[in-house]
Amino acid sequence: MRKYVIMGVQGSGKGMQSRMLASDLDLTQISVGDIFRWHVKNHTKLGAQVRRIMAAGALVDDDLVEAVVRGRLAEHDWNYGFIVDGFPRNGPQAEFFLESYDIDGVIHLDLPDEEVHRRVMARRLCSQCGADYNLIAHQPEAEDRCDVCGGKLVSREDDTEEALAARLRLYHEKTNPVLELFARKEFVVTVDARPDPVSVQQEVRRLLELPLYRPG
Ligand SMILES: [Zn+2]
Repeated sequence: MRKYVIMGVQGSGKGMQSRMLASDLDLTQISVGDIFRWHVKNHTKLGAQVRRIMAAGALVDDDLVEAVVRGRLAEHDWNYGFIVDGFPRNGPQAEFFLESYDIDGVIHLDLPDEEVHRRVMARRLCSQCGADYNLIAHQPEAEDRCDVCGGKLVSREDDTEEALAARLRLYHEKTNPVLELFARKEFVVTVDARPDPVSVQQEVRRLLELPLYRPG
């Protein structure tokens, strides 16, 4: 059984790298963001709570995140292991996690702040159907128009330079102590997240001594 944590700033490709790693190793992917989005979409009690927090412009607090992850892991549907994204959020949670789950490794996707800016500022969203675009990797056929429905492409409201700079500051402030704690226990593999996704995945696997990724 293999148990991993993946860490990286937004735009570092965490979701994609988790999916690639989970695919042939049969790992259960546990993404805190996905779990919250599911609850919001399905109008659960937790979803309502998360929606209220977001509407107030606040962050979901660490205790709630921990409760959600604990609950998810207690389902025990991870026979071959798991990869967790979005947890732990602080030092005490990291300690608890290491002690309780015997983690095999922490994957740190390293992306310089300038590159995060470049990637995030290139994100667009279709104002009609909600399709995602990234002007670096996924150019629409016609400028500023959705390939699917022809709707106008817009930036997300919170993808401004100021908002991103604030998110990055908060991210480093919160994440650095967790990374340092993991690093002291010699669990962290740091991978440059700038190359293409398959190259990044192969480097992750090389460092974790896993069989190489075979696309398709
Ligand atoms: Zn569209």
